[in-house]
Amino acid sequence: MKKYILLFTISFITILLSNSCSTHKDSSTSYNISPKPSNVILMIGDGMSTPQVYAAILTSENATSFERFPITGLAKTYSKSHKITDSAAGGTAIATGHKTNNGMIGMDSDSIPVPSILEILSEKGMKTGVVATSYITHATPASFVAKNINRNNYEEIAMDFAKSDKVNLLIGGGRKHFTERKDGTNLIEQMVSEGWNYYDTLTNINENDKIMILASDGHLPSCPSRGNFLPDASVLALEKLNKSEKGFFLMIEGSQIDFAAHNNDSTYLVDEMHDFDNTINKVLDFAEKDGNTLVIVTADHETGGLTMIDPNGRYTETYFRFSTGSHSPLLVPVFAFGPGSENFSGIMENTDIIKTILKIME
Ligand code: MG
Ligand code: ZN
Repeated sequence: MKKYILLFTISFITILLSNSCSTHKDSSTSYNISPKPSNVILMIGDGMSTPQVYAAILTSENATSFERFPITGLAKTYSKSHKITDSAAGGTAIATGHKTNNGMIGMDSDSIPVPSILEILSEKGMKTGVVATSYITHATPASFVAKNINRNNYEEIAMDFAKSDKVNLLIGGGRKHFTERKDGTNLIEQMVSEGWNYYDTLTNINENDKIMILASDGHLPSCPSRGNFLPDASVLALEKLNKSEKGFFLMIEGSQIDFAAHNNDSTYLVDEMHDFDNTINKVLDFAEKDGNTLVIVTADHETGGLTMIDPNGRYTETYFRFSTGSHSPLLVPVFAFGPGSENFSGIMENTDIIKTILKIME
């Protein structure tokens, strides 16, 4: 009995002590709101959890871009409907701050359209852009611009891109969803007539606004045949958007990390990771020089159930092993750099990333 009283007394004192400590903490300091960045760059490695990041680190001669970030956190990726998310619900959670059902784009789980960070920041006068190596209409980039109950309604999603007055720059693939449509409309011609500047390569882009570059009918080629498309497209996007006086929001996706992992193809995966790593380095070079840019790198989910093992149990080799051809529920990394980056440490919900960015940008 005495033991219990002693235990009770000790825990009571502990509660008192911890309360007295927490009284020093102001509850309004959960966000560090100064200084506020002018620009936000959000980079999404589709299917990229820590195994994919470590695959890049293991196969790189030099330190990777991931090692340049002062702040790292982890995000939970489950969706409203499933323990394991797809890229539509994952992209929507990151883009809008709403957990939704797998398959849904830019809508909450009651099928109500919700605004994306791109749309919210555009309304504040910031320029916005989206860069991907998949169809631009694919789930991840679509989550920032389109609203659809089904990610596979590509032609409807392309129509949302065409109608959006919130996006200033689009670079990716998926031209066929604009030109080979069941409704017979050539959306590219329609967009050009409404003031868009359309190109199918990254070269000789003279305008600074309303630029759409669709470099492929389908997805862009895989690495290495794609060359430096993603880093070059990202540098071009930064150059164009940085002309904005009120700052910019840019989403850049390493879309095909996911494709490689679905194929359980470690060579393709490593090539895609190095391509994304190169792109992050370019973005960080810009952000370092600029000094006013918040860069967040994260992922929608893990793909492939990837790990590295020594099959002989000697701890001397690191062989890649995939445990699924699908997605897994692993935590994904959140890397942060620049003003406001200190708010992105710890374990968070994927929906917290955008909520925190918006809080910082208030
Ligand atoms: Mg994607
Ligand atoms: Zn996938």
